Amino acid sequence: MLLEVNQLHKSYHKRGKTVTAVDGVSFYLDGGQILGFLGPNGAGKTTTIKMIAGLIAPDAGDATIAGESVVHKGQRALRHVGAVLEGSRNLYWRLSPLENLEYWAGLRGVRKREARLRAKELLERFELTDKMNQTVQQLSRGMQQKVAICAALIHEPKLLLLDEPTLGLDVESSDRIQTLVQSLVREQKIGVVLTTHQMDVAETLSDRIAIIQTGTIVLEGLKREVLDRFTGNAYLVEL
Ligand code: ATP
Repeated sequence: MLLEVNQLHKSYHKRGKTVTAVDGVSFYLDGGQILGFLGPNGAGKTTTIKMIAGLIAPDAGDATIAGESVVHKGQRALRHVGAVLEGSRNLYWRLSPLENLEYWAGLRGVRKREARLRAKELLERFELTDKMNQTVQQLSRGMQQKVAICAALIHEPKLLLLDEPTLGLDVESSDRIQTLVQSLVREQKIGVVLTTHQMDVAETLSDRIAIIQTGTIVLEGLKREVLDRFTGNAYLVEL
């Protein structure tokens, strides 16, 4: 098993109030599969992703990646993970895609020569070779998102976490990113957890689907099973 998420809990405390963002979330994923993580605004998707990526600590529960616990093995588990979070594209706008990828490679401990080679391969795969030396701020949003995905892949992680990867993109860029992610998964057998509130994106891409509401998974399983049950479930609010 590539990823096992086991009973994650997280509450935030703000101005004397407690908000339970994630309330006992569990799911799993094999390599070579995409899990669509669906839910309405504020359901707890980003918080879950951040805990798996080691960016925030859970109050309880754990995630195990390639057999290593994020809570107990920290860096050992996290070398298997690459993440692109919603909104923050983790890129330096005045640097080129190539420079950004080399920067991330350095942070991830990839040697210089190898970093350049991998960066060029990734940029080619994501159809950015001719944009390699422009600044990121000159690129379209779709291209910036592709660079962010390349940066998350620079250390060859086994697991890629994508938080709303197609949100706000035009249809063409969105479709292209979906196709590229899917081919990467099929060829390299990495696992992807992809959050979205777009059912069509989850339907196109996912092998498995987990639906979260107010911090709790309400449906989880193979895509077909979940979609069949989802349509018959009136209690589920609109995504
Ligand atoms: P969206 O689709 O809008 O990004 P989400 O499913 O990713 O939503 P989260 O961002 O994980 O949901 O938020 C879950 C709950 O936790 C929400 O009620 C949100 O307001 C709250 N929350 C998230 N981050 C914080 C924070 N840093 N401080 C306080 N509350 C937070």
